[in-house]
Amino acid sequence: MRPAGMKQTSEETAPPPSTHRLRLPSSAPAVLLIVYLSVVLTPLALAYLQDLPRRNFSDELSSALAMVALAMLLMEFVLSGRFNCVSGSMGIDLTMRFHQLIARSLTVFLLVHPFLYVTPLKHPLPWDITKQMTLGLSSASLMTGLLGWLLLASLVLFSIYRDLLPYRYETWRLSHGLGAALIAVAGTHHAIDAGRYSGQPNLTAYWLGMLALAVFTLLYVYVIAPLRQLRHPYRVVSVKKAALKTWDIDIEPRSGQDMAFEAGQFCWLTLNRSPFAVTEHPFSISSCPAKRPSIGFTIKEAGDFTDHIGSIQIGACAYIDGPHGNLTLAGRSGAGIAFIAGGVGLAPIMSILRQLRAENDSRPLKLIYGNRLVEQIMYRSELDEMKDILDIEIHHVVSEPPADWAGAVGQLDEAMLKRYLSFEGHAQWLYVVCGPAAMIDGVETSLETIGVPLRQIISEKFSYD
Ligand SMILES: Cc1cc2nc3c(=O)[nH]c(=O)nc-3n(C[C@H](O)[C@H](O)[C@H](O)COP(=O)(O)OP(=O)(O)OC[C@H]3O[C@@H](n4cnc5c(N)ncnc54)[C@H](O)[C@@H]3O)c2cc1C
Repeated sequence: MRPAGMKQTSEETAPPPSTHRLRLPSSAPAVLLIVYLSVVLTPLALAYLQDLPRRNFSDELSSALAMVALAMLLMEFVLSGRFNCVSGSMGIDLTMRFHQLIARSLTVFLLVHPFLYVTPLKHPLPWDITKQMTLGLSSASLMTGLLGWLLLASLVLFSIYRDLLPYRYETWRLSHGLGAALIAVAGTHHAIDAGRYSGQPNLTAYWLGMLALAVFTLLYVYVIAPLRQLRHPYRVVSVKKAALKTWDIDIEPRSGQDMAFEAGQFCWLTLNRSPFAVTEHPFSISSCPAKRPSIGFTIKEAGDFTDHIGSIQIGACAYIDGPHGNLTLAGRSGAGIAFIAGGVGLAPIMSILRQLRAENDSRPLKLIYGNRLVEQIMYRSELDEMKDILDIEIHHVVSEPPADWAGAVGQLDEAMLKRYLSFEGHAQWLYVVCGPAAMIDGVETSLETIGVPLRQIISEKFSYD
């Protein structure tokens, strides 16, 4: 530990950026994108290889859109944010944005799909006297096509307007999963039964394989992962108030192995319930790996589950699924690290700072921590004590301060960030941002405006929508 008073300045301690490199930046997101594109475009290649007589452009386009959209739909199960091989390299925010973008695109593809056909098909339906509406489908594939089509439109609308619906998050989540599974089964049946190309053996095998993958992901999330959690139960060992309406909760394994994680990652936490109940919630780990086997969370009251977190009893049963996310220093470099946190967004940053303290890290650090009220500031004395060990500058920003507040007043806006971050060489630093979605969007824009390259910014929004 460096004695107080002997702390070196940033200029003295800052070695050249290369010495700060922890690991080479990962190329995993690019690899994942290539794998994704290969999988969803495979049906087009398989259809092309069948060498069937070509139809008019509109019919071919309709088939192509439907096949790509069905492949995208079946891949949505893998992109649900529950697989660390995906969200661990892309980050949970990017994974969820990709999931939503793909859902909207495939919905448009599938909604226009039936209207693009211009070729009347062989078997007119009894009610279609003019035969203009004849699609030539078997009644089973007509049913599954229509069912999937209507369900998909409702599922996407329900997801976009979820906040306006009078349902609990858990109800929405369950109906979202079940609805998606039904659409996947109906869509696959429709494709194989009605599809000009999909009925051929090579594409039929592809669709059945993709459907099996989708079903497996559901089985993994709802059966296999909970079974694994059941084998590694934890117990609550401490519940303490961290700040206004915010609680520190520590858990430890009841027996056996604890979970390895990197500072900054998050877990799905289940308290006082079976891991099979779909009531787990995502929370960042605020303790550091050096404190294992204990794992700590900092939880703010925000709804029906978190409002009761302060009354959880010591000894209560806990299960965790994780670690997830990539808000970590692993593989990232910077001449120094600036942390920007809003409210309970300090949780993963606290984990990183605690780990840096445990490792006596010598990099120059800055923390800019915003809250509405002084009573919401967490870990104030612990942060102050870190100054004895770490080369850290800490700035508290409060938007509604009391009369005796001596710190900065306002929001984490461009002017505030410029005030603390416009120093020489700031573009070579790494910026770690966490908090509410709107705050992160604003901070990222401000950082870009003050000359920080996007690649030097990592962030995590506390929303999984
Ligand atoms: C990656 C990540 C890390 C997070 N880390 C923290 C943290 O360290 N500390 C903290 O206080 N909060 C954190 N959150 C937010 C926390 O998950 C929600 O505040 C909590 O789930 C709200 O649950 P509730 O039932 O009390 O509230 P509700 O009123 O049910 O929900 C409020 C909102 O929280 C979200 N939410 C609710 N239930 C779930 C669920 N089961 N899964 C996903 N989202 C849900 C929904 O957007 C919902 O609209 C994090 C969120 C994410 C995505």
